[in-house]
Amino acid sequence: MEKKQFQTESKKLLDMMVNSIYTHKEIFLRELISNASDALDKLYFRSLTDDSVARDRSEYEIRISTDPEKRTLSVSDNGCGMGREELETNLGTIAKSGSFDFKAANKGEKNATEVDVIGQFGVGFYSAFMVADRITVESLAFGESQAWRWESSGADGYTVEPCEKSTPGTEVTLYIKPDTEDEKYSDYLTTYKIRELVRKYSDYIRYPIRMKVEESVPKEDNKEEYEKVLKDETLNSMIPLWKKAPGEISDEEYNRFYQDKFFDFEAPLKTIHIRAEGGATYEALLFIPAHAPYNYYTKEYEKGLQLYSSGVMIMEKCADLIPDHFGFVRGLVDSADLSLNISREMLQHDRQLKVIARAIAKKIRNELEKMRDGDRTKYDTFFDAFGLQLKYGLYADYGAHKEDLQDLVMFHSAASEKGKYKTLKEYLAAMPEAQKDIYYACGETVDQIAMLPSVEGVRSRGYDVLYLTDDVDEFALKMLGEYEGKKFVNVCTENLDIATEEEKEALKGKNEELKPLLEAMKKALDNEVKDVRLTNTLKGHAVNLVSEGDLSVEMEKVLGKMPGGATGYAKASLILELNANHPVVEKLHAMLQQDPEKVETDTKILYAQARLIAGLSLENPSQVCDWICSLI
Ligand code: ADP
Repeated sequence: MEKKQFQTESKKLLDMMVNSIYTHKEIFLRELISNASDALDKLYFRSLTDDSVARDRSEYEIRISTDPEKRTLSVSDNGCGMGREELETNLGTIAKSGSFDFKAANKGEKNATEVDVIGQFGVGFYSAFMVADRITVESLAFGESQAWRWESSGADGYTVEPCEKSTPGTEVTLYIKPDTEDEKYSDYLTTYKIRELVRKYSDYIRYPIRMKVEESVPKEDNKEEYEKVLKDETLNSMIPLWKKAPGEISDEEYNRFYQDKFFDFEAPLKTIHIRAEGGATYEALLFIPAHAPYNYYTKEYEKGLQLYSSGVMIMEKCADLIPDHFGFVRGLVDSADLSLNISREMLQHDRQLKVIARAIAKKIRNELEKMRDGDRTKYDTFFDAFGLQLKYGLYADYGAHKEDLQDLVMFHSAASEKGKYKTLKEYLAAMPEAQKDIYYACGETVDQIAMLPSVEGVRSRGYDVLYLTDDVDEFALKMLGEYEGKKFVNVCTENLDIATEEEKEALKGKNEELKPLLEAMKKALDNEVKDVRLTNTLKGHAVNLVSEGDLSVEMEKVLGKMPGGATGYAKASLILELNANHPVVEKLHAMLQQDPEKVETDTKILYAQARLIAGLSLENPSQVCDWICSLI
């Protein structure tokens, strides 16, 4: 018989399994049971619309049996089964689902962690090679007459041949490895071990997991003596985790459930277990991950919760159950009120579903607020992972989710500790009496923003400044418009109104006095800036660039970066500010009569400086350098 080779990736994984020093080899049983349960689900689901399945729900089962003499352990199910081709594609190639995330999470890391990750994710069928040196899979696909046997001893490949099997379903048989000094594989052939593993990992499986166990019972004819009989024992309670009372579930159980089901190597940051009655009756088990999946901020990521109807899954990812801004939440909803064979289209208009979705969104918001107020370090971790999503949420749908999100977003700020965030409420609470607006400044990094001349000016008056480092930040604040009646003002715009009345008067006079200089400078810059004016909001710097109107310098940059973004259309209107108290101004003023040409060049140098400080590029960098050299 021809021996076929595994796909390269499967082969690598197989090698890892076979040679694994992994301590939790026992998870193999959970993986096999979970596959069997999926196969039963598939057939059961089909039975809802296909009369040929003609089988009662109570007949679906998973069986485990052992033969200590032959050292075999079998897991069988009467589910959908696999045909020849399915055996080849499903067991000859690495499955896409879990293992894909596993590979991504593992990129570039060493063997040790690799091995650890295996147990966390589970890599399905292949994990059986951790305890077996040979595996056979006999399967009859539902509706077919020929059964097939797949067999493999690991990395050297596999064979597929016809076999005898009369009922649809699959039987996986493991030839358990011989015991070694470190590992007593024989344990997996004992009833107590199997019972323990099923309770630990597979208790919630909704089909009975049965096994024939020996029991001593008094003899019929002589009650004094005992005899051994084989009895069917159901090993699992079959109650899904979410149907149990929250008080009966340990954190460890929740975490394990989450990690197994959603393929995460880290425990969730927060678990939310809802059992609702009344308007809508449902259970929901929701998890906030501790980190963003690697593809979270890409188009590839699909939000959604699993949808169950009375314990049977009807949809893997129901997007309507969760708003986009909470798209990072994983979990499931189980409601008896939903019809089993409801179609996707119908579901969208289902009133019940909308009620549940609304309640869930509200609950998530409440839980996040609780975390924010009760465990700030945790909330910071959350915000590091998903804060960007919340800010997008503020901006999305023309600000329709403002109310939900404005108190969940945070920003860095000048006055807060390095790396820490501030909520808008906290900013407001710390505002001095004289401060009218909420100030913010934008830039690539916190350090860069801190050095902006405009920021220094506002800071010198004792006002805090929010530091916006994400592209979406300023757009989100603009969408918000105001917070508790306070406007958001970019400190790098000309309408910054922080000077006192006297200061304003004094400045007005000076602007008049130096008018000829300012005009000459504006002329020197051609049409580059809309205006050149004096200011007294700057502390140490000589010049500063601010924008006028709705479009800030930062927004211009963001729009310019967008694919197809034409900066030509979105140009901030710039104003060059001169520090009225800087000696440079006097110098230029004095020079205007004797050497207007030098004033022109110096103006260009100052303008170049201002652009660099604002993070804008220079059109003529080498010429600017030449000018500077000529000064030296
Ligand atoms: P995963 O379960 O993550 O998809 P596995 O390697 O465990 O990966 O299984 C690969 C595929 O083989 C499954 O997706 C399923 O299609 C098929 N399979 C495995 N076990 C069974 C079974 N007992 N009955 C039917 N199909 C099965």
